[in-house]
Amino acid sequence: MILDLFGLQGKVALVTGSNTGVGQGVCRAYAEAGAKVVGVSRRPSTETEEIIGSDSFYNVIADLSSCGVVPEVVEKALARFGRIDILVNNAGIIKRCDSIDVSEEDWDSVLNVNLKTVFFLTQAVAKQFVKQGQGGKVINIASMLSYQGGIRVPSYTASKSAIKGLTMALANEWAKYGINVNAIAPGYMATNNTEQLRKDGERSADILARIPAGRWGTPADLEGAAVYLASAASDYVNGFTLAVDGGWLGR
Ligand code: NAP
Repeated sequence: MILDLFGLQGKVALVTGSNTGVGQGVCRAYAEAGAKVVGVSRRPSTETEEIIGSDSFYNVIADLSSCGVVPEVVEKALARFGRIDILVNNAGIIKRCDSIDVSEEDWDSVLNVNLKTVFFLTQAVAKQFVKQGQGGKVINIASMLSYQGGIRVPSYTASKSAIKGLTMALANEWAKYGINVNAIAPGYMATNNTEQLRKDGERSADILARIPAGRWGTPADLEGAAVYLASAASDYVNGFTLAVDGGWLGR
């Protein structure tokens, strides 16, 4: 049955930023598709655990602003569920500031979480995939600003454009191990990430007017793409960044 290809029974997923927003939605969807989920968050993912239940969800507390935490995150995930099959690099931050005023500290904070730790966590998990010998799935959360410049978010745009490139680079090297590396580029979603934008009446109206679907997205809108790219249904999809954007990019 074609729908069986989308199931995640017996799989273990590691999802960063599991306490809220997109990450919480992905954790919930993976558990519903049959996976065990390790959620990584700097604050406890209490609500996510309540939704999924502690049999299928395990929370690792870690601050991903330094990639020094990577070995411990992977060790704890393996200690709880014994393997890793899926990695979702979802945790991310955004700092809004005129480019002329951006400080080195702010630049580094965004690039560290959104890019550097993503690379080294992915490298560590890929080593585990190779060790297990059964391939694996990496899903990076990119952005519309993997394609566009954006306004007043230069460090975020740099990080998310790099994520799109990195997705292709890693896919090229690791397809031979049965590892699929892909990304999802969400459009404008109603989460903490866009709270400031949505509070700015003028910007919010401009954005909404440009979305052909006529509404902001929600984490639930990304769940189908996240399950697809984690499942056997996408085994021949490599290095692609899939926009889930209500039509924004095509406009
Ligand atoms: P969000 O609600 O702000 O979620 C971001 C997640 O990343 C939170 O769980 C956050 O934890 C976590 N995080 C941030 N810094 C961290 C750190 N140092 N260590 C560990 N976890 C950290 O926003 P979201 O929209 O769900 O964002 C999820 C991803 O989607 C991000 O990569 C974002 O760039 C991307 N995205 C969002 C949109 C959108 O319109 N919302 C559009 C395109 C792409 P805390 O709650 O503790 O901060």
